[in-house]
Amino acid sequence: MAKQRIISGASEGPVEDQFNQSLRPTKLEDYVGQPRLIEKLEITLSAVKQRGDPMEHVLLHGPPGLGKTTLAHIIANEMGTHLTVTSGPALTRPTDLVGTLTKLQNGDVLFIDEIHRLSPVVEEYLYPAMEDFKIDVTLDRGLHAKTITMPLQPFCLIGATTRAGLLSGPMRSRFGITHNLEFYDEPDLVRILNRSCRLMGIDLDDGAPGHAAIAEISRRCRGTPRIANRLLRRVRDYAQVKAGGVLTRQVVDEALHLEGVDEMGLDEMDRKYLRVLGDVYRGGPAGLEAIAATIGEDAGTLEDVVEPCLLRMGLLARTRRGRQLTPGSIEYLGLNIEPADSGLFE
Ligand code: ADP
Repeated sequence: MAKQRIISGASEGPVEDQFNQSLRPTKLEDYVGQPRLIEKLEITLSAVKQRGDPMEHVLLHGPPGLGKTTLAHIIANEMGTHLTVTSGPALTRPTDLVGTLTKLQNGDVLFIDEIHRLSPVVEEYLYPAMEDFKIDVTLDRGLHAKTITMPLQPFCLIGATTRAGLLSGPMRSRFGITHNLEFYDEPDLVRILNRSCRLMGIDLDDGAPGHAAIAEISRRCRGTPRIANRLLRRVRDYAQVKAGGVLTRQVVDEALHLEGVDEMGLDEMDRKYLRVLGDVYRGGPAGLEAIAATIGEDAGTLEDVVEPCLLRMGLLARTRRGRQLTPGSIEYLGLNIEPADSGLFE
């Protein structure tokens, strides 16, 4: 497995991080779904390995939990090189990058999460590093200051972002492979959950009830592997304490009810969002900032985490006049209003 060095980055807390780490596939063949991306990566990986080149720079975008970090681990592992993990907000000055870049060895992978949050100066500093594997370093200060160009070992940069739209054109054009990760369908999530069960020592060989339980989790995890694995952990705990360790569809129902995850897989925040749009803004259209202020949540978080799933489920429409409910979400909320005119979709 690729050795990993974490410089800094968004963390969900030690327990969750450790859990994600333990379930992370380490080989391309174990990575479920995203077939077009996997094919592209397989071809490029074998081509660069044959030539003895570093892997092409890769830009991955899509909502959190869909497997961007996992792919960075897999690429480093397949290349037999080291992975260094950092994030856009952690790199505030070009000097933060110097140490990181100069420590990279030939073919190493540098993963920058939330790459859209790099400051413009750091971003510009990265361009020559990405293109020509060199950086300018300023020595001394004031009158004696001089700039020297330092060569770097050829490396592969993997950038991950939840908002491709916020990335500058010049940055985007410096990636050889760009891909938008999609939500996973239920059969793929079942495969991911079956693998997780094996790794967690959960025995599903008792037949139908266990498989029905897994199918139910795959239906209610918002198409997101990270959520699927988290719910599996909650369900396993619930089964252990309340149901003699046996996973059944009913155990899933009860455990997810306790987690605040409803029949459709919506959680507390999803429901709050829809309810505010329905009750306060009469179904919309309403601006994201206004909705965020009413809920008391950060607009960026709503846009990255909550909205993609609601849009995919057809419960939310984004129009030029703002966000609005759809017939599906009006029915879900049991409201007695007409959906606003939807002729102005973005
Ligand atoms: P992101 O970086 O996009 O937020 P991660 O790569 O951290 O997402 O994925 C979260 C967890 O979901 C991982 O620990 C891994 O166990 C699981 N996972 C994600 N994508 C896949 C996949 N395609 N196949 C198997 N497991 C996956």
